[in-house]
Amino acid sequence: MSMNRVQFQPGLSMAEFERRYGTEEQCEEAVRAWRWPQGFSCPRCGAGKRTEFRRGALLYLQCAACQYQCSLIAGTIFASSKLTLKTWFLAMHLLTKAKTNVSALELMRDLGVSYRSAWLVKHKLLETMRLCEEFRQLSGRVEIDDSYLGGERVGGKPGRGSENKVPFVAAVQTTEDGQAVRVCLALRPFTNASMTEFAARSLVRPLTLVSDGLPCFTAMAADAGVHDRNVTGGGAAAAKHPKFKAVNTILGNLKTALRGAYKAFNFSKYGHRYLAKFQYRFNRRFHLGAMLRRLAIAVVRCKPCPERVIRAAEIAA
Ligand SMILES: [Zn+2]
Repeated sequence: MSMNRVQFQPGLSMAEFERRYGTEEQCEEAVRAWRWPQGFSCPRCGAGKRTEFRRGALLYLQCAACQYQCSLIAGTIFASSKLTLKTWFLAMHLLTKAKTNVSALELMRDLGVSYRSAWLVKHKLLETMRLCEEFRQLSGRVEIDDSYLGGERVGGKPGRGSENKVPFVAAVQTTEDGQAVRVCLALRPFTNASMTEFAARSLVRPLTLVSDGLPCFTAMAADAGVHDRNVTGGGAAAAKHPKFKAVNTILGNLKTALRGAYKAFNFSKYGHRYLAKFQYRFNRRFHLGAMLRRLAIAVVRCKPCPERVIRAAEIAA
């Protein structure tokens, strides 16, 4: 599929969203089908027959054999949330359809919930995206570059020595002629040890690593296969180098997506989730219309994620 065909895909329209998930019952039906695609199976005894009842607004299923009760959302990311499923579905729709970053403030207004709820919903969904992309691996021709989130403070030093910047690595698998296939982004210091560990985790042979020859890339390439080292001298010359077209285009798009949010979040603490959101969406860009459904299935099958985990800082690798 060419880039234009990716950009002009219809995606899931707001009208179609309303038609499919416009009521709480429709959302419940979807969650039920995604949790138990082969039909209900009791978590305790495995029996298939059940009855359903409500406690307050929450739908419960009760096993007909052993009487075990569980709510529809128990054991999922939706668990312990007071929000309706419709609200969660709308949040998933807004987050997956937006190419740019959606701020918690914007989400608060669109969902009609408190700022705290909007922030938590957003970060739980971003965390799910991160988990989906956790074991992403690239192979073949891979362009790699170092970049930074935030810290574009006036008067700061430009380039690699800048203050207040959080380093991350961008690796892009391309076709032989340089078309981006998929991307892997990671918040990491540019040390030999960290980059070698990144290579072990995210890159697989056969591999041709295309880099600007930064020492840590040379170190990571030692065991990677072919290293296509292009010393560019950095700056504008590097940005225009044809061998880095895919990674430079993606970094440009990422910065556009995050622009406006630069001052709004703590990069060292939450930057990994923003990178994961971009990576998740990019790697699924050929199927925009299915993005909400695929995220929802992941959400339904992920373990609950308590607020303290969501608010805890990422331990930098
Ligand atoms: Zn049972």
